[in-house]
Amino acid sequence: MSSAQVLPNRFRVVVLSGPSGSGKTTVVERLLEAAPLRLVKSISATTRAPRNGEVDGESYYFLSPQEFAERKAREEFLETAEVFGAGYWYGTLKTEVDRAQRMGGWSFLEIDVQGALRVMELYPDAVTIFLHPPSMEECERRLRSRASESEEAVQKRLRQVQEEIGQSGRYRYQVINDRLDDTIAEISRILRREAGTAD
Ligand code: 5GP
Repeated sequence: MSSAQVLPNRFRVVVLSGPSGSGKTTVVERLLEAAPLRLVKSISATTRAPRNGEVDGESYYFLSPQEFAERKAREEFLETAEVFGAGYWYGTLKTEVDRAQRMGGWSFLEIDVQGALRVMELYPDAVTIFLHPPSMEECERRLRSRASESEEAVQKRLRQVQEEIGQSGRYRYQVINDRLDDTIAEISRILRREAGTAD
């Protein structure tokens, strides 16, 4: 937490969603450092395998499908979703939101649209933000620059992006991620306003 960050009075949940190619990962990294108040990032659970460099308990809690299903049955999750229909499950553990509250920060969830819609039901006052790519052209360029994916996979992701953008009206705020600095400034303004500390 940087020295400029304050501890908010009232606990809130912040949800950020953005399609692949929206530049979400960089925005989240910068925001956690630069936000005007303390945000505690929720560590999601997933059944997908760790990628290079990902650490269990930091990037995600990597669970076997069986453990995920057992914990889901025990109602340990706030929300779960099968993201991209690829057979991998993701979910926010209730204990993650509790952890943020204990730490005196706002719980920050970077989750997909399905999960966000569920959180909106559970926390109607959640600060929900949808991050748009600057344009579909730029989004496509970013997706293609991940050279590992086949044309079919790129087309599938682009359809998914369109679908997610179609739901963006359900979010309280929509931010276009054109220039990183502007995006961080805009989200910081939103958080200050929601915390009642806007000047
Ligand atoms: P990745 O596998 O690339 O890390 O994440 C893929 C997608 O899963 C991203 O769109 C991310 O927002 C979403 N995601 C990550 N954690 C969660 C979670 O706990 N719940 C939901 N619903 N989606 C998640």
